[in-house]
Amino acid sequence: MDYLPVFLRLDSRPVVVVGGGAVALRKVSWLLKAGAQVTVVAPELHPELAARCARGELTHLAVRFSPAQLANAVAVVAATDDALTNSEVSWSARERRIPVNVVDDAQLSSFIFPAIIERSPILVAVSSAGAAPVLARRVREQIEALLPSRLGALARFMGERRRSVQQALSALARRAFWERVVSGPVASRLLSGDRPGAVRALARELRTSQLTAGRAGAAGTLGEVYLIGAGPGDADLLTLRALQLLQQADVILYDRLVSPQVLERARRDAERIFVGKESGEHGQQERIHELLVRLPRAGLRVARLKGGDPFVFGRGGEELEVLAAHDIPYTVVPGITAALAAGARAALPLTHRRLAQSVTFVNGHAEESAAEDWRFLADPRHTVVFYMAVGRLPAIVARLRAAGAAAAHPAAIIEQATLAGERILRAPLERIAALAAEQRVAPPALLIVGEVAAFAPANALSSIAATRAARQSAFA
Ligand code: SAH
Repeated sequence: MDYLPVFLRLDSRPVVVVGGGAVALRKVSWLLKAGAQVTVVAPELHPELAARCARGELTHLAVRFSPAQLANAVAVVAATDDALTNSEVSWSARERRIPVNVVDDAQLSSFIFPAIIERSPILVAVSSAGAAPVLARRVREQIEALLPSRLGALARFMGERRRSVQQALSALARRAFWERVVSGPVASRLLSGDRPGAVRALARELRTSQLTAGRAGAAGTLGEVYLIGAGPGDADLLTLRALQLLQQADVILYDRLVSPQVLERARRDAERIFVGKESGEHGQQERIHELLVRLPRAGLRVARLKGGDPFVFGRGGEELEVLAAHDIPYTVVPGITAALAAGARAALPLTHRRLAQSVTFVNGHAEESAAEDWRFLADPRHTVVFYMAVGRLPAIVARLRAAGAAAAHPAAIIEQATLAGERILRAPLERIAALAAEQRVAPPALLIVGEVAAFAPANALSSIAATRAARQSAFA
């Protein structure tokens, strides 16, 4: 280990930064965040540094570097683009035993700046000891993605309650209590932005801890349910919160549309239970409801994973009713619904200033709905996305045609959007059902109809150019 990672208290301490460019600006920003009294030595200042100087946040010496400027400094940073000046700063500082950092030069530095992940008061510092800063930054990005953005708020929330918990619980009970706080409903409430919910969950945990004090185990603790949208299949389209909760769930209940790639991202030792509805299987939803109540009551954290978004044709609402009726804490995490993923994959904007002002998501099985609804759906300037439509294409096309859609009304089918078997087919409405049959399109797939289904970016570019030309001539 070439360096010892430590966290330095700089509050109101003098730090000298030599150099006034963009690199110096980055270091100065961190130093100011840590409360240091910064003096910048540079003949000229970056505008942002000049602005900060004007606001009185730092002192500027518009001169060249001289060793006397280091008199009181507790740390020095050299960030000039002149190698000679940088090494002069390094030597002067080391002579005076002041810690010095020369940006991008580990040899001349006695301390280095790590890549920082900030969730104050939680801080993570990553360093490659100067060997591979780009790699260190990549590691930082990966950790960054794993740490919830409200982690700092959780730390402060816990900090504010340390005292009262200390008075309420014995040392032994306290440890277990805080463990449950960070891995249970208190944390998931707070991290999803529900502070009142977190306060209630904490009170409940505290009562449980007092009641079970002295008894072994986490007896009586209540688990929780995360109702998570797993997106269209590509695991990189999970949200960060979905990933964070998947990493902590004890049990995963998943549907048929949840891809193996997504399941891979769950905690290795989590139990995975398939609860998909095979056609004709009755009672499956009742079984899911039963699990959604029984598992959290046994103290488990349950991730209920649904393809796409849980609230778009996902029966997420029914499951929430069950959870609420049984007083089971839950968090809902939205996912990218198939329509959005399909649009992105097919370069097909669901709305467009010229082509469509609105979009409707329709259950492909809902063909019994009223005729006036279908007139609305048949308007080419309105985008309609039919879910669960594969087996119903001829019937849907017939209803649209009967409601006034033209034979040439644009249509597209996107099968297995974002997955390995993805296919995108486009045809006018009168041809789309036959094309799908020829190509043996199978679920999951979406039917999209409306002007936007014929959208092609090349045309779009020329028409944007045309619009621009028109606008210019209008102003000429
Ligand atoms: N909750 C899901 C929808 C579930 S209904 C969501 O928000 O996406 C199931 C239907 O979703 C399928 O019949 C199909 O129409 C559509 N679907 C789901 N995943 C899809 C994918 N990867 N590609 C195309 N369609 C998909």
